[in-house]
Amino acid sequence: MKVFVLLIVVLLFVLWKKYQKQLKDHQRQDTGPSTGSAANPQARELLPCSVCGVHADKASLGLNAQGQYVCANHHQSGA
Ligand SMILES: [Zn+2]
Repeated sequence: MKVFVLLIVVLLFVLWKKYQKQLKDHQRQDTGPSTGSAANPQARELLPCSVCGVHADKASLGLNAQGQYVCANHHQSGA
């Protein structure tokens, strides 16, 4: 019986160590993208469409003949 209890204690210890390692890995994964997303707000710059004034991501906006930012709808209709 003593050996059985010892076995359970060892098993719990191993599981606890595994759980801690998983937590650390998760924290590393969480902090990884967060540092990358910190640079995202600069990339996701919102600009107004010069035609309708709707704000959209700079990446999704297009330039018209006058070099003004226009939304996808007006970019397609303009071109
Ligand atoms: Zn527009």
